[in-house]
Amino acid sequence: MSGFALPLLRLTASQYQRVVGHCYHGLPDEACGLLVGPVAGGEATGAVSGVYPARNADASSRTYTVDGKDFLRASREAEARGHEIVGVWHSHTHTDAYPSPTDVRQAVDPMWVYVIVSLRDEAPTLRAFRIRDGAIAECQVVLEAG
Ligand SMILES: [Zn+2]
Repeated sequence: MSGFALPLLRLTASQYQRVVGHCYHGLPDEACGLLVGPVAGGEATGAVSGVYPARNADASSRTYTVDGKDFLRASREAEARGHEIVGVWHSHTHTDAYPSPTDVRQAVDPMWVYVIVSLRDEAPTLRAFRIRDGAIAECQVVLEAG
């Protein structure tokens, strides 16, 4: 493993809209979904080929668990493309777009990018993180046309 790599997370404007829209749609609960993209040398490149809104199996405003069927569907579509699930997003309805202690505890895949969308303020805030061995590092998010 090449240390604590911090790829840029590249989202197109329409992917961004889909992620944020799903978060608003999930209110008052936290919403979640998966990011699919290419992997090179065991690391996500930061490119995203697909965003997959998922059900929050917890149906909770404080926690989330990606629904098992939605996870399976996203991994099949990733596989069909030669890509992998490279991250997960979820919303924070009333707190910062920053990993909570629960988020850090539940972050099991060191390759994943953890995207958090805060809906606390009038305008949404989207930030992305790597979480490894309990350490949090922010990834730069680049929005691209498309
Ligand atoms: Zn959280």
